Formats: sequence, structure tokens, C-alpha cells
Amino acid sequence: MNDFPARAVVDLGAVRRNIRSLAAHAPTAQVMAVVKADAYGHGLVPSALAAVQGGATWLGTAQVGEALHLRRAGVTGVRVLAWLYAPGAPLREAVEADVDLSVAAPWALDEVAAGARAAGRTARVHLKVDTGLSRNGLVPGQLSGVLAAARALEAEGVVDVVGVWSHLAFADDPGHPTVRAQAAAFAQAVAAVERAGVCLEVRHLANAAATLTAPALHWDLVRPGISVYGLSPVPQVAGPESFGLVPAMTFEAELATVKPVPAGSGVSYGHQYVVPHDTVLGVVPVGYADGVPRHASGTQDRPGGPLQVGGRRLGVAGRVCMDQVVVDLGPGAREVPGDRVVLFGPGTHGEPTAQDWADAAGTISYEIVTRVGGRVPRSYVDGERDGERDGEPPATATTHAHTTGAGA
Ligand SMILES: *Cc1c(COP(=O)(O)O)cnc(C)c1O
Repeated sequence: MNDFPARAVVDLGAVRRNIRSLAAHAPTAQVMAVVKADAYGHGLVPSALAAVQGGATWLGTAQVGEALHLRRAGVTGVRVLAWLYAPGAPLREAVEADVDLSVAAPWALDEVAAGARAAGRTARVHLKVDTGLSRNGLVPGQLSGVLAAARALEAEGVVDVVGVWSHLAFADDPGHPTVRAQAAAFAQAVAAVERAGVCLEVRHLANAAATLTAPALHWDLVRPGISVYGLSPVPQVAGPESFGLVPAMTFEAELATVKPVPAGSGVSYGHQYVVPHDTVLGVVPVGYADGVPRHASGTQDRPGGPLQVGGRRLGVAGRVCMDQVVVDLGPGAREVPGDRVVLFGPGTHGEPTAQDWADAAGTISYEIVTRVGGRVPRSYVDGERDGERDGEPPATATTHAHTTGAGA
């Protein structure tokens, strides 16, 4: 039975291997696998467990709900940091669940302290400093006040400041002058906190790009996200293979309709593509509701997002619709309904990659994988245990474990 004619197959062996590669790039630091946004679309719990098996000693989430979801699913024995919340977040539950919390604003320290008091436990806190991204984080004028308040709460046993951290604006451009400026601002903030007498367990600044390209920024802990899933954070510099990374997700579907049409037929909404000669069209039953970017629609002059059909590399013909895309299989095509179409995968068998789709849609690979829709089932294989897949549908080899996000 085929509940849904497409799936995202995630190779958990690739996730483990990617963690080992990332750790090898940062031998003096611990690795936090960032698993926000349903592990970048790969499925939160299975991906997190694989990352831990690969050697990650920390997991990072944006939302508190994502961290709680991990704990409730039994992911223990690993530190979890959650860093993005608004007033009213379930911080008591987070402290009870042994989740480390970021404090990026004065009000946040108050709410963490209230959560810790309600939980009757000490909250572990990482002070987030804004070193130039101008997103979340304490600006220089806020740090000393929050630090003093945190020291007072430490004396009461309410909080324990274990980390100082920040995030880079141009990590994907390691030579950019802001990287040096942020690194210096971060070192200053760390020094200020340590001078105040705080004994820091982890000082952390590096995302995947900095993990792979800027060893001086590794500090005690690196926080790679995209590369846990095997994608390059710096595609303009180098592809995943040069960092020892293997893309973990394969997005594949079965052809629905296959039919001949005459020359001159307009294809899909708005007829942006008109077939130049008698041909055979195939309907691939995934669309923008499933994460196929509408910006990767194809026109007469420019093929859309790439698809591998029967070993051939084709492009989306015409507009990407909500539930489907059309592909021009060419005159005399021999495909039949049910044949496998690969939208993207590791790229080792000639199939397109998430990076190729990002290029086709004018975006980044992060957006391609995180947007694979909630109705697309995730299934899991283990390339290290099962041996490499070679183009066979995974129906028999997989454990189906459809995960949704953390409900966040
Ligand atoms: C998402 C995120 C990361 C991981 O970023 P990648 O570019 O995917 O490695 C690290 N730190 C913070 C604060 C983030 O929001």
C-alpha cells in the first residue's frame, strides 16, 4: 500500500558519519547537533538519536517546545539547549526536563528564574550576546546588568550561568571583516563574564560554516546545523564531499499519470511551458504544499527544478502546482505510472541535490530541506548498516516513522 506517493528517505548512517566529520574538523570542541525545525525537515527524534550515536554531546533547538519534545521522546543523556522563546514560554517544564536555556534579554532572565523557582531546580543558563548580527542577544549595554542579576540568582541557587554564546552574520564568507569583528566582540564578552567570577563550561560561536572553515572560532563547543544533514554551508566554496559530508535526505516520488500530448500543448497553470513537439508528459504528485518551491517552475526557455527519471536528468515543465508538477519525458518515453522520480538525494547516483534545487529556486539548501511538507512521510534507512542503496525504492528496508515537528 502506498499511503502517499512520495517520501523523504533519511539515511541515519549519513547523519552519524556527518557528525564524525564535523567532530574531526573541530577536534578540541564538543559538538552540538542543531536539530531545530524538525531536524531541518529530517525528523526530530530519529535525527537527534543518530547525531548522539555519531558523537554529538549536545543538541540545539530554537523553540523550547522542540527541546521538550526531545525529552518527552526519551532523548536523555545528552545536553539540550533551547534558545528562542517569547514571554510565557514553558520554562518551568524546560528546567524540569533538564534543558539548558539561553538568556538573550533582561526579561528572559526573570522568566527563567521564575521557571527555576517553580521547578525547584537550578536552571542552566547560556548568556547570548549580540556581537553584530542584530538578531537575538544582549547588546553591550545590557550585558553588565543581566550579569549582575544572574550573579545574584546564582548566589540563591536559582540559576547557574554555564555558557556565553553568540552567532555570526557572515560565517559563510569567512574572510568577511565582520567575522573578525564579531570574534573580537565575543572574546570581550567572554572575558567580561569570566572577570565577574563566572566559571563558564562552554563558550560557543561557530555554526556549520565556522565549524568547517574557521578553527579559531571553535571555542569549547561548535553548533553545526545544515552539515549534520550533509549539506554544505558554503556551496560557493565547496560541496559536501570536500568536507566529508553526505546528504542524508532523498526526496522521491512515484510518477502518477504518463500520457502523450501533441506539439503545442500548454502545460500547467498559465501555460508557461508549451511542448515543442509531440511528447510524453509525466505527472509527479508533489507540489509546493510538499515543499517543491514554486520559484523553481520551468518556462519555455528555462527548465525548472531538476528531477531524475529513469536515470535521466529532466526539469520541471511549467508551473509548480500545490500538489503536483509536470515533467516532459520526451517523445517515445518509456516510463510508466509508478516509476520512481528523485527530486533530490546525495547526488552520488546522478540525482540532483537539495543544493541544485536551491540554485534553481534562488534560495539556500536549508530552505529546501526544511520545507519538505508535513504530509510527506519520512522514512529511515541506515546506509552504514544496510549498505548503500542503489536506486531501489526503500519500501522493504525501512522503518516508517512519520514524525511531525515539535508542534511548534
Ligand atoms: C540555526 C543555528 C545554528 C546552525 O546553523 P547552520 O548554519 O545550519 O550550521 C547555529 N546557531 C544558531 C544560533 C542557529 O540559529
